[in-house]
Amino acid sequence: MSIQQKMFSELKEKEIFKKAVSMGTDYINRVNDRNVYPTEQALNDLKIFEESMPEDQTDVNKILNDLDKYGSPATVAQAGRRYFGFVCGSVVPAGLAAKILASFWDQNSSMFVLSPIAAKLEMVVEKWMVSLLGLPEGTAAGFVSGTSVANICGLAAARYKLLNDLGWDINKKGFSDSPKLRIVAGRQAHSTVLRAIGLLGFGSDNTEYVDCDDNGRIVPELIPELDNRSILILQAGNVNGGSFDDFEKICTKAKKEGAWIHIDGAFGLWVAACNQTSHYTKGIELADSWALDGHKTLNTPYDNGIVLCRNREAIVNALHMSAGYIVLSDHREGMFYTPEMSRRARIVELWATLKYLGKKGIDEMISGMLERTKQFERELSEVKGFKILNEVVFNQLVVACENDELTEKVLKNIQEDRVCWVGGSVWQGRKVIRVSVCSWATTEEDVSMSVRLFADARR
Ligand SMILES: *Cc1c(COP(=O)(O)O)cnc(C)c1O
Repeated sequence: MSIQQKMFSELKEKEIFKKAVSMGTDYINRVNDRNVYPTEQALNDLKIFEESMPEDQTDVNKILNDLDKYGSPATVAQAGRRYFGFVCGSVVPAGLAAKILASFWDQNSSMFVLSPIAAKLEMVVEKWMVSLLGLPEGTAAGFVSGTSVANICGLAAARYKLLNDLGWDINKKGFSDSPKLRIVAGRQAHSTVLRAIGLLGFGSDNTEYVDCDDNGRIVPELIPELDNRSILILQAGNVNGGSFDDFEKICTKAKKEGAWIHIDGAFGLWVAACNQTSHYTKGIELADSWALDGHKTLNTPYDNGIVLCRNREAIVNALHMSAGYIVLSDHREGMFYTPEMSRRARIVELWATLKYLGKKGIDEMISGMLERTKQFERELSEVKGFKILNEVVFNQLVVACENDELTEKVLKNIQEDRVCWVGGSVWQGRKVIRVSVCSWATTEEDVSMSVRLFADARR
């Protein structure tokens, strides 16, 4: 049988797809019972994937079986209830189901003509995001892989617009002889912001860094005088302590001075969509561009990032491309808002997650994360030998023992236990344990159990 005939018959019989879905549903059903982190054995078993590029075809059943047998145990249970590492987020079942369907569609969402459904959903979600976050009417959205790329897009729009206003077309004339722009950012800006600054040619050494307070918030009084050549980068949700910059105060002034304001709010911007927390984001509507993730606080499947830009022309021109074969329509062309041309239709799972939860569901999910975090703080502060170093505002805890050595040992013990997972970080020069509560699924019991594990690990 030719490979083509074989593939036709696999499509027709559907068995391999049923098998994949069945393995996947078994996995997600048991995700809370398994080790949060792979065992040494599971990691060792990954050796079976080491082989040279096969000469012959492989039976698809063997492929799926190997993935299930050796791949699944070597995954990290991020979708589970007790994964508190990094800031990852679980997955809302409705979003996952929609993603599975969209996988079968296998759409290229670059242009309307390539995927009318993706173009339509992108248009709808753009408006939903503006309403959820309380941003200016007409704000444009681009759907990218994550906040790393969203930061690049927002800052590219800033670069384009500020230079264009100074009579310089960056797309045509490049950067080397252009008027000089200033980048002003907090000393605790996320590392992906620094990467974007490097990638866009600003250079991290040219950045004017502003000192932060003990909780990682930019001190507004220390921001230098800005002008119409300045890009100011703020943060909604410090990646360690979770704090929010004082947007209202900072943006009001920076806007008067003519600066472009970009907000990195990967997980934190979502607090705008929750009654109990929305005061933290007061004033964000004064900014010019925003970056956030669906895959963190909103718990969409990976990968799902969003860039928002007040000035539609600025982002479209900054990410400009054209070619003879491009077919424009009167509809939305997704690729005008992202650096890629071909792109999977990740909008499907974002749309499905938003539609499933509704404003009320999002509100409940976010206040649940806040409450579990406060519970974690309360219970852990009663355990001798742990100190919480940050002011708990949303979903992040920064924890330390008496000294760095002890903190590291305790962290290692917790991680080796594999019943919950937390990561390490550095906070004000100290080694710390970082706890991030960002799964819809974490229960009160999960928090209490994890606190007990902390105590055991310490002993
Ligand atoms: C996670 C994070 C990023 C990077 O987002 P990705 O989705 O991983 O690209 C940027 N900024 C902050 C504050 C983050 O927490």
